[in-house]
Amino acid sequence: MPLLNAASRMQPEIAAWRQALHMRPELLFDVHETAKFVAGKLKEFGCDEVATGIGRTGIVGLIRGRHGEGPVIGMRADMDALPIVEATGLAYASQIPGRMHACGHDGHTAMLLGAARHLAETRNFKGAVAVIFQPAEEGGGGGLEMVADGMMERFAISQVFGLHNEPGLPVGRFAIRTGAFLAAYDEITIAIKGRGGHAAMPHQTIDPIFIGAQIISALQGIVARNTDPIESLVVSITKFHAGDAMNVIPPAAELGGTVRTLSRELRESAEIRIRETVENVARALGGEASLSYVRKYPVTVNTEKETGLAIAAAREVMGAHCIETDAKPIMGAEDFAFMLEKRPGTMIFLGNGDTAYVHNPEYDFNDEAIPVGVSYWVRLAETVLKP
Ligand SMILES: [Zn+2]
Ligand SMILES: [Zn+2]
Repeated sequence: MPLLNAASRMQPEIAAWRQALHMRPELLFDVHETAKFVAGKLKEFGCDEVATGIGRTGIVGLIRGRHGEGPVIGMRADMDALPIVEATGLAYASQIPGRMHACGHDGHTAMLLGAARHLAETRNFKGAVAVIFQPAEEGGGGGLEMVADGMMERFAISQVFGLHNEPGLPVGRFAIRTGAFLAAYDEITIAIKGRGGHAAMPHQTIDPIFIGAQIISALQGIVARNTDPIESLVVSITKFHAGDAMNVIPPAAELGGTVRTLSRELRESAEIRIRETVENVARALGGEASLSYVRKYPVTVNTEKETGLAIAAAREVMGAHCIETDAKPIMGAEDFAFMLEKRPGTMIFLGNGDTAYVHNPEYDFNDEAIPVGVSYWVRLAETVLKP
């Protein structure tokens, strides 16, 4: 069965919602206008329950099927934007300077709303669908907040499904895999203490900039020399702050960056090796350094059964040739991982076509993908909750 006729018919209207959201991007948990829009639509569609304020500004709409008792599945979209100055020049570009829907969460929200409307009209399934709209995907842990707020228990959700658009993947195509699909995302801050002094007499100082440079090099040694080459570890130092004058060696320096891993074991061992390296390299050079290691998002692990169900739904929509079932994992992260830590489920990628990549000021969600995404959500509900 191909694209839903209803999804194609609704496309212009869903695109209009999407573009309206695009014009009013909101950040992290401050998605008040967006959440109000979402809750209003869900009520208008006749959802059986519309719960607001979950995980601060998250929304859950419950739609019961007309085929009796069954499990409740969660289908999740994200609502937040990014602190980026938009450079698309589109008629519907962001009206709020310095904020932009540069990850397509406007599209995710609009598509899940479209699916909710169709599911509330047809209800051709047993059990119930919980449509989940989360705040603060972009670094705020909104998914974790919703889970911590008891969302899974309150709505008796037994499985969870997520979707993200993927630039570069043609419209009408999907990509997914069983197992680790997106990386764990951690943040590191390294405080280096040396001794400042005259830049012409380095021997009277302990140069924290030199120490920082050695630490950066040594950290790449963890990737190249301590890690199984078949596994994936990324250590990126993205900040190096020190000094104010050309002729002064400063007393301290600070490094910052991110660590990405695809397995829980490597995440553990990487943290240990990074700490040892930071402390000991600084000590060897006469200084001191300390590491703050903050665990942000876990590995996004797709379970086998639910991934099979997602593949079956995507196949029904676009045909078997349109889904890559063993997609390469990516080192980006997803806060949907917190929901997957609580319940079995899977995250799928939806082709966004040949557009700029996400988080780029030129990026735009591709409205051509709307009927594909909406049809996927509807078929997924009908597949998992088949009467
Ligand atoms: Zn993003
Ligand atoms: Zn995103």
